[in-house]
Amino acid sequence: MLPAKKRWLNELKEFLSLASISTDPAYRKEMIKTAQWLSRHLKNIGLSSELIKGSGHPLVYAEKIIDARAPTLLICSHYDVQPVDPIEQWETHPFRANVRKGRIYARGASDSKGQLFAYIKGAEEAIRSGKLGMNVKFIIEGDEEANGKSLAEFLAKNQKKLSADSIIYAGGAMINKDTPAICYGVRGLLALEIEAWAFKDNLHSGSFGGGFANPAEVLAQLLTSVKWKNRQIAIGHFYDGTTEYSDSDLESPYSEKELLKMTDAIKLVGEKRFSTIERISSRPTFEINSFASGYTGEGFQFIIPNRAVAKVSFRLAPGQTPKRAFGQFKKFINMLNPGTVKISIRKVDEAMPALMAKTSLIAIAAAKSLQRVFGRKVAWYRDGGAVPIIHDFQQITANVIMVGFGLLDDNIHAPNEKLDLKNFFRGVEFARDLLMGS
Ligand SMILES: [Zn+2]
Repeated sequence: MLPAKKRWLNELKEFLSLASISTDPAYRKEMIKTAQWLSRHLKNIGLSSELIKGSGHPLVYAEKIIDARAPTLLICSHYDVQPVDPIEQWETHPFRANVRKGRIYARGASDSKGQLFAYIKGAEEAIRSGKLGMNVKFIIEGDEEANGKSLAEFLAKNQKKLSADSIIYAGGAMINKDTPAICYGVRGLLALEIEAWAFKDNLHSGSFGGGFANPAEVLAQLLTSVKWKNRQIAIGHFYDGTTEYSDSDLESPYSEKELLKMTDAIKLVGEKRFSTIERISSRPTFEINSFASGYTGEGFQFIIPNRAVAKVSFRLAPGQTPKRAFGQFKKFINMLNPGTVKISIRKVDEAMPALMAKTSLIAIAAAKSLQRVFGRKVAWYRDGGAVPIIHDFQQITANVIMVGFGLLDDNIHAPNEKLDLKNFFRGVEFARDLLMGS
């Protein structure tokens, strides 16, 4: 290994040794330590940097302005990580990074400290060579895994500080271990809790059954009405604003056969007019995430339960908004409610969807750099999950994309999280190439 690579790896190990678990208050000191470490590191490689206090854990900001008239690239990621439980399933300690078979194992290796660090080392290389071809800014948050809003809040009030000609969200996965990928879409989210309430206590089904509505039955009927048999959503005007056309550019990391094998599912389902990859990454969906009612313990209770409650969520496609979908859902449920139970609906979470242009300046430049580094054409994909900050970034510039160097089997959010080292080094090379603007 080249001496420079050895040094990057040692520094990455140090970064990964900091237990930056954002959801657990017991790690608050370690979060601050990590932010300070990161800010100091960014200063040491030639950027100016500061910590920014927000509603949650501190944000780390850094910049290197070479010329006020030069274009500016903003790189965004997060330094916080998921908790490590179940710890006994880790082969080596989650905060003592261990290299085995060309992979580095640690919490945060792939999501997202390792990926972020590749961009940082790329910036260092570009600065060190004297060939940094643009202004570069970093904004790194500490609340990504904690559902925090501090980055969005900061962004809303500091558009000037974060102004940029293009933005890369550093993170995500490649299509496979040698094929680089650019993510150009994320789905939105609307998460709800819905309760059907019928009477103050459970009723004996022998004494009362036959004369009273069953809230479990009513709620189940309402929720199963949300989708037609053809799996399209039956809510009026729900698809307004979304595109009905198939996206032939969309590439999938898995064949349908692999998906079945991976999940042990009996059969794949979905809207007939769309491919499986479109169904799971870009089309709107509705899922019942949980459903609870009645007695579920040992034995049996012959009752009509007094209430039923479900957690449900929509994934939203570009063109939809959580606000509109919420209004449409409430209207739909109220329309179908037979009037035998009281229904209440509560919003739990929401995120805006986003579609990023494949023809934007940053998309074209990143695709070129990726092709140069990997010697392969870039795959284009859409992430079925939510990255709400992308929509906020699009208020700054239309040149936004996501580029990451993880793999889908990196065990993110699970024991034995890892990152392929070859791809970490390719990530460094990519960031250097892109920042030199050659
Ligand atoms: Zn995560």
